[in-house]
Amino acid sequence: MSQASCVPVLMYHHVSPSAGMITTSPANFEKQIRGLARAGYHSLTGDEFAGFLQGNAVPKRSILITFDDGYLDNYVYAHPILKKYGMHAVLFIITGLIGEGAARAHQGSSAELPSTPAHKEAKALMFSDLKDKVMLRWSEIELMQREGSFEFHSHTHTHERWDLIQSDAISKNTKMTADLADSRRVLKEKLGGVSDHLCWPQGYFDEDYIQLARDAGFKYLYTTDAYGQNIAGHDPAHIYRFAVRNRGFLWLAQRTWLAAHPYWGPLYNQWKLWKRARRKKA
Ligand SMILES: [Zn+2]
Repeated sequence: MSQASCVPVLMYHHVSPSAGMITTSPANFEKQIRGLARAGYHSLTGDEFAGFLQGNAVPKRSILITFDDGYLDNYVYAHPILKKYGMHAVLFIITGLIGEGAARAHQGSSAELPSTPAHKEAKALMFSDLKDKVMLRWSEIELMQREGSFEFHSHTHTHERWDLIQSDAISKNTKMTADLADSRRVLKEKLGGVSDHLCWPQGYFDEDYIQLARDAGFKYLYTTDAYGQNIAGHDPAHIYRFAVRNRGFLWLAQRTWLAAHPYWGPLYNQWKLWKRARRKKA
């Protein structure tokens, strides 16, 4: 078996017919997942990806599919599509926003589907008393975990940017320590275990945060930095991910190929970083 030298990590937020920022339509999501499956891509589990970073072999066409936050639409639309094509994703949930109650309908069932608001509305509702309208419930998470479409990891308990709210480093770090501990406690209570994979809220992290995450028991830290490669031996505290656009499979096939390519990948990343630095200067 030939082996992967680089594993691209895909980042999704919403899969929903309500168009908006960071949203993939169910039709495009199906094209992407079907395309990946037919092209022979292996969607790794978090454990397999961690093993790859430590030097274990994984099949040549390996990817890691990730979702952030824990929106209801992930269950209604993404779950049945992943299941249909035998693909697997990891979902970083904001543990403080997950609700109680019975599992709702998803696209694979015959019952009427719950509405899944666009990102702007979801963002307004998720931190209110109406969060259940846009966020997952524990019963849905258990169902997805049982059926193998998704596995669940920490995205902290609150998703707060403590560095922006707290005036000094000590209170910032105290708040973050509690946030990480809360998310670990809730995952243990609700799902019977917690992993060493963590995704930073709003993509922010600094040296303090990395140390706090390590102290809390996390090792694999997921960023929103797109322009780097996840290769064996790479620092597990800085995992690169690229945002998947609301496009068909052709776009994703090209972007994934580029992300993994030993020569064109680094060149493309350097060019993007150079362009970004130039924009900042201007
Ligand atoms: Zn997030």
